[in-house]
Amino acid sequence: MTPLPPSEHALPPGAGDPLRTFGGMFRDAALETAFEQDRAPESVRHARGLLGAAVLINLLFLISDWRFHGTPHFWLALSARLVVVAWAATALLLVTRLRSAAVLHRVLVAWMIGNALPVGLLVTSGSEIALVIAFLLPAIYYLCVPVRFGWTLGCGVFASAAMLAGLASSDLPRGNGIGILLAMMMANVALALTVTRANRMSRTAWLAARTESGLRAALDRSRAQLQRLFDACPVPLILTDRASGSLIRMSDSCAALIGSAPSSALAGPGPADPAAERLARTLGADAGATDYEVQLATADRGDRTLLVHAAALEVDGRDVVLAGLVDITRRKAEQTSLERLASTDALTGLRNRLSFFAAARAEMLRATRTRQPLALLMVDLDHFKAINDSRGHSAGDAALRAFGALCTRTLDPGAVIGRLGGEEFGVLLRSESSDAAAGAESLRAATAALRIGLAQGPPLALTVSIGIAAVSPNDRDIDAALARADLALYAAKHGGRNRVVAEQADAARMARTG
Ligand code: GH3
Ligand code: MG
Ligand code: MG
Repeated sequence: MTPLPPSEHALPPGAGDPLRTFGGMFRDAALETAFEQDRAPESVRHARGLLGAAVLINLLFLISDWRFHGTPHFWLALSARLVVVAWAATALLLVTRLRSAAVLHRVLVAWMIGNALPVGLLVTSGSEIALVIAFLLPAIYYLCVPVRFGWTLGCGVFASAAMLAGLASSDLPRGNGIGILLAMMMANVALALTVTRANRMSRTAWLAARTESGLRAALDRSRAQLQRLFDACPVPLILTDRASGSLIRMSDSCAALIGSAPSSALAGPGPADPAAERLARTLGADAGATDYEVQLATADRGDRTLLVHAAALEVDGRDVVLAGLVDITRRKAEQTSLERLASTDALTGLRNRLSFFAAARAEMLRATRTRQPLALLMVDLDHFKAINDSRGHSAGDAALRAFGALCTRTLDPGAVIGRLGGEEFGVLLRSESSDAAAGAESLRAATAALRIGLAQGPPLALTVSIGIAAVSPNDRDIDAALARADLALYAAKHGGRNRVVAEQADAARMARTG
């Protein structure tokens, strides 16, 4: 069945009955032609069956015509019967391999007219069989010959007239003529109404089937169009089943983003790329969230950071998540590197002053929450100006770098270490100030033992002075503890340098060496 173009899927609303009241054909000529053409193969099959039966049965009638042998009717019956057979055989030959409904129509109309005349001669015998044939032939024309209603009616009436004429010239008992005429008229009306009903039913069913197939084709087209739009969307899109977390479809740009084969290239629901499946599961699990970041390890493109804009919706009664993705891997790396640059001291690689204070504040909050002790160390290299003066500024830089590395090696891994400025360092330890004093002492001793090789001259030796203050939960800010540690450092410097001094309250635990 040929689907209609979108505008013709159904008759316009309020168009009224598309079928004629009498005859039951489509009012619209184009629609009627389309119906006939659609039915042409079936009509040709019917026509072949009918004409084949006409040839065969009339050949058999030839034998029955032999009963007239010896009567004046015999030669008339024989020649009329042969014409009937020859005419049906010719029509049969013409309709074989026919495709066109219009040509079939013409052949069948010609056959009906050409057949009615010799049959009209045959019924002049006036036998009982002739009476049956006189009613049977119009019935066959009405019910079995697939032509347009106008021709069905015309040929049916013509056949009836030919039959009546044949019967009229026979020697049927006088007085039956009117009765036969009325019966023939009744038969014609009944048959015309029957054909009208059949025409209406077949056309209504055809139109419904055609409308449905047209709508289905339009639906398929719009679904394919939607899929093409989804696949070609430049913003990476992914559609996930919310309940199972399985991947439904992803756009080509999404496949390229995660280094997977595009959905359009996957034949059916075959195994998808593991990265795509992981992503789909994550999206299914986070269906409530709308904007968030996802880390995804892909086979071809390494670890990616994706910004997800998701929406949960229902499609075909199924809960799905539709998400647009933005690859922020580079932006994220740049941001991290900028953050690192902004928080790192370029010379030593330790935290800079700003980052040290930020980390110290965070540590104070954590320590207050967990009731853990914290101790702050102020560390200052001794007579550093003299190193610069005697061995040069670059030797001073080398000393700062070496001391920074020593801090990282010697101090507790959880310690927050920062260069606060010049040759001054701050250290925050997660310990009581007594344990912190032990750590500070280790650092002091390691510094004193350090020998820094320089391009010129003997290796450089260093010492440090360290002031310690316990960070109290009452300290509102790190600055208060810093001021106390500074005082302790001042005491260490005045005490002769290369030493560790704890704040006044802990003076008894002062560690003294050197
Ligand atoms: P003290 O034992 O009392 O701490 O004496 P000091 O010489 O270490 O202290 P002072 O404050 O007098 O000198 C600090 C010097 O550190 C002065 C400055 O030139 C030097 N300095 C500061 N920053 C840098 C740097 O980045 N590189 C180098 N090479 N020297 C620096
Ligand atoms: Mg100094
Ligand atoms: Mg100083």
